[in-house]
Amino acid sequence: MGYRAVTVPYAEGEGLKVPVIDLGECTYCDGCIEVCPTVFRKNEAAGYMEVIDLAVYPVEEVDEAIKNCPADCISWEEG
Ligand code: SF4
Repeated sequence: MGYRAVTVPYAEGEGLKVPVIDLGECTYCDGCIEVCPTVFRKNEAAGYMEVIDLAVYPVEEVDEAIKNCPADCISWEEG
């Protein structure tokens, strides 16, 4: 019997947080993709930005994307 590695869905010391984009405000400038391509991508078929489904989000990179978003439309949501 061995142990199986599991991904813990928490950033250290924090609850599960998920970045969300308010698509009503998004100007599709691609800024968040440039800052944080591991989290944000463009859904080419649908033509809008989306958050990639991850077990844990890189807090500092997402905070940077939030800071740089010209439409101020990225925020954290408690998961
Ligand atoms: S940086 Fe903000 S406005 Fe620009 S594409 Fe990302 S979410 Fe939309």
